[in-house]
Amino acid sequence: MTGTTKSRRQFLKSMGLVGAGAFWVARGSSALAGSSREKLAIEGGEPVRKSMLSSRPYGPQFYDDVEKKELIEVLESRNPFRWWHGNSKVLQFEQAYAKHIGVKHALGVTSGTTALLTAMAALEVGPGDEVILPAWTWYADYDVIVLAGALPVFVEIDESFNIDPTAIAEKITPRTKAIIAVHLQGTPADMDPIMDLARKHGIRVVEDCAQCCGGKYKGKYVGAIGDIGINSFQLSKTITSGEGGAVTTNDDTLFERAMRFHDVGSLRSPYTEALKGGLLSGFASCNFRMNEFTGAVLKAQLQKLETICERLRRNARIVREGIADLPGIKLRKTPDPEGDLGVGVFIDCGNRQRRDFFLRALRAEGVAASGPSGSVILPADPRIERKATVHPDWPSFNSPRGREIQYGASSCPKTIDIIGRFGGVLMDPNFSDQDLNDIIRAIRKVYTAMQS
Ligand SMILES: *Cc1c(COP(=O)(O)O)cnc(C)c1O
Repeated sequence: MTGTTKSRRQFLKSMGLVGAGAFWVARGSSALAGSSREKLAIEGGEPVRKSMLSSRPYGPQFYDDVEKKELIEVLESRNPFRWWHGNSKVLQFEQAYAKHIGVKHALGVTSGTTALLTAMAALEVGPGDEVILPAWTWYADYDVIVLAGALPVFVEIDESFNIDPTAIAEKITPRTKAIIAVHLQGTPADMDPIMDLARKHGIRVVEDCAQCCGGKYKGKYVGAIGDIGINSFQLSKTITSGEGGAVTTNDDTLFERAMRFHDVGSLRSPYTEALKGGLLSGFASCNFRMNEFTGAVLKAQLQKLETICERLRRNARIVREGIADLPGIKLRKTPDPEGDLGVGVFIDCGNRQRRDFFLRALRAEGVAASGPSGSVILPADPRIERKATVHPDWPSFNSPRGREIQYGASSCPKTIDIIGRFGGVLMDPNFSDQDLNDIIRAIRKVYTAMQS
């Protein structure tokens, strides 16, 4: 198909992308001038941009003398280990981060995954317990439940791409110990109904903020709302040290258990003093301690977090406003537009075929476009569908309920539908006004062409 011998309407119709009827309605409308008459680049028309516009990892774009100075101080201290330290960067980062998000305690660990495993240990999640998580999220949420010996129970997402709060209640059993509310791709999960439900049933709430560091829900930072929160500082997150993670909580007992679990069961100075010698004794645990180089970079990156968040929010708002008048446009839902991080702007294209065309057409215009990303439809993943574990006798799937539970694509049709029909453009904190304008022009051009 070259597109040269067919009209755009015929081209789109042959792709099943327009119906009969109102396709040319917008033609000549001055409100849409510059979009309705243009031939799409995918049909051989002039693209909006010559070079591909795409977002890049945010944090490293802001590396400068602040990170350099902090790192050099660690080198010169000749002590990259967080303890036995008069001036630990990890400790400084923990205190600054806790203050920033408005929570009593923060603990630096080696990754978001180890932060989640630490949260499971803090909550005493183990064999016989069930933990609820969204069907669309990162592997770590599922894996740490299994590694704790508990049973993962998936709940479908809604059009915010986050767990559907109205679908949780039916998955709660007397064995449900916790809900992992994940704030996915920059949009906070709707915490009020989740917290209400959890309180009513005596269930703990873990906030996974790995994709939403700096995001807020109704005026509160994510990670300060549930019983315990986790974050990741891996490259693709809001701020980064390459790898790294944090656990946050207002609860002294959860913090002490997290602290002990991440550090061979022990409690060390200055946390021994902070926790008044500790209430608990040690138990079988791990080493997920953060090192001083990581702490140094994160201490510096934290100073840039608000700038990154403000710019992402502003850029996403400009794009949203620039396409808001398109007839019938339906954007990704968010429970708090002000607190949303603005990681991307996603549009409901109606079905997968239309979405895939939308993405291809946008890319042809020079704008990198994608479906929801950074997560996996976990129940449909082969290793999860098979319930594969490191040992055949793993407790998660050997209880009657563990043997009975079925994952697989057929267990999450709504999630598959939503993830398949939304497409959009990821923001970058350093997009120029010209870049934003190009994104708006490209979306308007393609969207208008696809109207039927
Ligand atoms: C990245 C991520 C994690 C895991 O973080 P790592 O630092 O990569 O271990 C956990 N949950 C979500 C939602 C993530 O996106």
